[in-house]
Amino acid sequence: MDFLWLFTIYTIFLIICISAFCFLSARSRSSLDSVFHRAEKALSFLLPPWLQRCYSSYTRSGVFVALHLILDALVFAEYTWEVFDYCSELEINRLFLLLPYTLITANLFFFYKCCVTDPGVVTKQNEASRSQVYEYDEVLYHRHEQCHTCRLTKPARSKHCSVCGYCVQRFDHHCVWVNNCIGSLNIGYFLLYLFSLTLTVFSLAAVFAVFLLQVVLLSHMMTAAYVDSDGREQIMSIAVIIQHLFLTFPRIVFTLGFLLILILLLGGYGSFMFYLALTNQTTNEWFKAKRLSSTVLYAGYSRGLLANMQEIFQPHVYYKKGR
Ligand SMILES: [Zn+2]
Ligand SMILES: [Zn+2]
Repeated sequence: MDFLWLFTIYTIFLIICISAFCFLSARSRSSLDSVFHRAEKALSFLLPPWLQRCYSSYTRSGVFVALHLILDALVFAEYTWEVFDYCSELEINRLFLLLPYTLITANLFFFYKCCVTDPGVVTKQNEASRSQVYEYDEVLYHRHEQCHTCRLTKPARSKHCSVCGYCVQRFDHHCVWVNNCIGSLNIGYFLLYLFSLTLTVFSLAAVFAVFLLQVVLLSHMMTAAYVDSDGREQIMSIAVIIQHLFLTFPRIVFTLGFLLILILLLGGYGSFMFYLALTNQTTNEWFKAKRLSSTVLYAGYSRGLLANMQEIFQPHVYYKKGR
């Protein structure tokens, strides 16, 4: 079964690539991150500066934004030119077929907002007011602590982003996919972006799967037989049906595999971000709290589920309170 081996290798390769991208986008200060940093430093002696700016995760670059848009375009091109046409011929419900277009429109809007919205940059003008929004817990955040780069007092829950070069209020992480920090003022857009992206991928995968299922049912593949290399008649197994579909519709089966992996990764990451929002933690705090010794009890900033969600989607209310 050479085909299944190839498909398994392809799937594992995709998982590794997407996981690496997700890891880089989260940019946690883990030991693996410092390995990447050292590798980038080593490469800096060999490659010209313009090329380093393209791949470096420590420099703001639109490469991942472009990659994101290219992937969107490729998947929707495949959907529009192949799947949509076939599904229309099979008279699959039009609203069902148009759903992915509606969802990607919403997703692109939230993607744009994540890219361009000020994440909550701390400046000389607002450092005093932003320092009043959250209490210093004296565990992760200490009063009168200064950022050595910006030379400003660090408000509680802020962190300096080495990629953007400034401190960000309620810093979550620097996301290479939107080429911006995720902080107090755009975390709501980021959650909506993740949610709409997961729904878009899910709706696309559903149409792809319904199409392939229709093909199997209409051609009575489940009850069909084929003659193997020894000349014996065999009933079509699931593996043989998948192989047959792949040979007949290679791009559709490959794209469906890619979408299913994305659902798993986005579902997992989205659930984690939703949990952080509900408990009023940032990714940065979650990593830091995990590293605290067991004798330190970290209370965090949770104010209850509803207030936590309000803080995510109405950050300005909290800013006014602090002023
Ligand atoms: Zn700073
Ligand atoms: Zn940043």
